[in-house]
Parts: sequence; structure tokens; C-alpha cells
Amino acid sequence: MSASSLLDRGVAAIASAIRTGEARAADLVEEALARVDAGERELHCFQTVTADEARRAAEAVDAAVGRGEDPGPLAGVPIALKDNMCTRGTVTTCSSKILENWIPPYDGTVVARLRSAGALIVGKTNLDEFAMGSSTENSAFGPTRNPWDTSRVPGGSSGGSSAAVAAGYVPVSFGSDTGGSIRQPASLCGVVGIKPTYGRVSRYGLIAFASSLDQIGSFGVTVADATTAFEAIAGHDPHDSTSINLPAPSLAATLGEGVDGLRVGLIEDFLDQVAPACAAASSAAAEALESSGAKCESVSIPEMLLGLPAYYIIAPAEASSNLARYDGVRYGLRVDGPDAEAMNGRTRAAGFGPEVRRRIMIGTYALSAGYYDAYYGQAQKARTLTIRAFDSAYERFDVLLAPTTPSPAFKFGEKTKNPIDMYLSDLCTIPSNLSGHPAVSVPFALDENGLPVGVQVLAPALGESVMLRVAAVLEAAAPGDCRGPVLGPRSSTHA
Ligand code: GLN
Repeated sequence: MSASSLLDRGVAAIASAIRTGEARAADLVEEALARVDAGERELHCFQTVTADEARRAAEAVDAAVGRGEDPGPLAGVPIALKDNMCTRGTVTTCSSKILENWIPPYDGTVVARLRSAGALIVGKTNLDEFAMGSSTENSAFGPTRNPWDTSRVPGGSSGGSSAAVAAGYVPVSFGSDTGGSIRQPASLCGVVGIKPTYGRVSRYGLIAFASSLDQIGSFGVTVADATTAFEAIAGHDPHDSTSINLPAPSLAATLGEGVDGLRVGLIEDFLDQVAPACAAASSAAAEALESSGAKCESVSIPEMLLGLPAYYIIAPAEASSNLARYDGVRYGLRVDGPDAEAMNGRTRAAGFGPEVRRRIMIGTYALSAGYYDAYYGQAQKARTLTIRAFDSAYERFDVLLAPTTPSPAFKFGEKTKNPIDMYLSDLCTIPSNLSGHPAVSVPFALDENGLPVGVQVLAPALGESVMLRVAAVLEAAAPGDCRGPVLGPRSSTHA
């Protein structure tokens, strides 16, 4: 892999070279596919590689340029999509046996927007089954490995998408974030991950996990790349009733405006809950912002620690309802039985893995008569307290700063014995999902094992512009070796 390849020069350079006819999308897609070929045996980022379709898209882009047309802001950019986004004609599994052979009859809005922006979809990436997990170990089709150290997880649930960028296959990819599934794997893979404001990006065609929390966002090697990718998918969509009726924001243009005079609060409540390297990275990030002209202060927001227990009631409750549709009739797998109830039970027992079954049971229990007030009702109150705590913090601060994760990338099997250990991975990311606020993870340091550590910038609703400006300043202050792509998957040199 040559570092001077166009594929490594970022989205703006790629799109401009393709639009001017300086480079051909057909060549670029071959290079991306060759990288995928070389890396996949070891990494397993993809559930499905859509080579033929990507080649056809590249030809169409080159032909449009030939006719003097503009193929769009992502002209010729190879991308990867988490396999919980519906792609017309391409199997969409959610990394679950229940959808193993399911081919959607339509494109989700994000997918359609990316196609019309000129992007080349190279494949569908691996995830924890139905996006439930933090390591991709819950995929029914085997985990993804972290390109920084293949004995470690890439994070999850969008681990295939974060690893595909970290491995240098594609400059940008897309995932979904319900409790941290973009930011946590971004942090563990040394890439940038953006979770937008709830309602900024359409959920139409995103396979539902917990609908009040789910949001699609982007991964990129750089803040600029992830931002351009986000711009391409954002904006109102009448097909999603929770979509915010505002035009797509223009963000890339203001990324360089700096942080002079911005008020930044470093959330101190997480610092003694996370590994020293993660706490140190966020404190160092605060100092870097301070030296760039921001005013940083520590702030205690104890309600942040209510997020995790509240989420692990609310998300399973919504999932138990959303996943009722996999009944052996409408979608995917069917295992026959003597009557409809037996067929339904057998199908679900065979089709869902252990973590999905656990969530359905927890959610059904929390919603059942007699327990609803004690569990679901309490969790909703905790959600309200979290939102109010954010609201009062944002009276004093423009953005908040926090660790993204409690630890850098962990080893396979390290957190699979006790589900709570895995759930704790989302401690610092969940509050922004409960409030519907945007947040971004930026690579900021390396730990003692040479693994990347991200920091998180949190902003109030629709605060993406200021949030990404802060992210850009952090990126410029971070050591260059803490971010991907890792050129050529490294084997376990850090083990
Ligand atoms: N890891 C969290 C969970 O298991 C979050 C998942 C997500 O954001 N999709 O629920």
C-alpha cells in the first residue's frame, strides 16, 4: 500500500481528482478492492463485499465525468456501510442468522443519498448482531479484528466499519450509534466517529434496534473526511417522522475556524471510572484546547453516571418491541413447526443469538405489567434527569469534553463472560444518546501498548458545527501516530 496513493489523500482530494477527470473512479475502486482482498482473511471487516456493484458505480461516475456532469461531493470515493442499512438487491444481515439471506427491496435514505453523491459502495460491514454489543463478538458470522492489533477487538457494534477505515480499505464508512456504536469503535481503531443530533440523519432503511436512540453517522480517517461524509447523509427526510425539518448543515467550510473564546467543560465524573490512559487523554485534550484559546474548566455532572443503567432498560425495552417483527413470516429465516406459535418460537430460537435473546427478555420483563413502573418508568425518569443536567451544563459551556471509552481496545474474550463488563464499555457514550445530542470521538493519544485512545467532544442539539471545530483543533494537536490508517494490517505486535 503506497502512502502517496490517491486513496490515502482524503475525500476532498479524491472527489476533486475524479470530478476533474485527473483520476478514474474505476482505478480507485480496484485499488480499494485489492486492499480488501489482501486484508480480509485476517480482519473480517466485511459481511459482504459488493465488488461488481462498486465497479458498475465507478463506471457510471467516470461516464458522468466524461459527459461533463458532476457526479457529486463523494465522486468516486469508496465507502463501506454497516450491514444494518438496507441496500436494494444486496443481502442485509444485521450480522444475524435470522436475516442471513434477506435482500431488501429498497435502499435506505442514507444509502440512496450516498449513491447520488457519487460514492462507491464497496461492501457491507460486520457488526454485533442487531447492533447489540461493543466488540463485534456478538456477530453470528464471527468477529472483526482490530487492524492495530489483531488479538484485540475493534469495538462495536460498528466494528467492521471502524476497522475498514483503520485498515485503509476506504477513507470513510458509515455506522449507527444507539449507545456509542460509532464513537466507541472509532476510539478503539484510531479513527474519527461522528454521532449526529437525533433526527439530523434519516433512519428510514436502518434496521431498528432502539428507535428513540438510533442514529446513523460517519467514520473517517480525518475530521474533515468524516464531516464531508456526514454532510452527504444529513438533512430532512419525510420518510422518517423523527427527522428534523432543516436542510443539511454546511460544516466542512467552518472546520478551520478554531476555538478562540469557546467555553469547554471537562466532565470530571468519568475520569475516575476509566483507565488512566483514557483519563489522561481527555485532560490533555482540555489543555490543548486551552492553549488554542478556549476557556476550559472541570465540571461535575453526576447525572452522567445514570445513563448506563437507564439505557440498559430503555434500549432492550424498545428492542423487544422492534424485534417482534422477526416472526418467520415477514422477514428472513423460517423454521417450520406444527402450528404458527411453534414455528414462530423455533424460528426465533434458531435465528437470534444469545445477546439478542437476553435483550428481548430483559426488555419484555421491564415492560410487563407490575414491573413497568419499577424499571421502564424509573429509567425514563433517569433519562429526563440526564437531559436536564446537560441543559444546565450547556448554559455554562459551548461544548463538553470526556473520554470516549473506559479503556483502549481489549482482547477477544476479555469481556464476554459477564455481560455487565461489556455493557460498561458504553459508560461515557450513552448520555448523548439519551439526550439526542451530537458527539464525536477523535483519536488523541496512544496508550502504553501503542493502542489508540480517543477523546469525545459533546455538544447540544444541532451543535455539530462548533463540535466539529473543536474536533479539528484536537486533531491538529494530537500526535500523528495515534490515528489510522494502519498501513497493512499489523499482526499482534503489541500483544
Ligand atoms: N454497545 C451498546 C449496546 O450494546 C451500544 C450499541 C449501539 O450503539 N448500537 O447496546
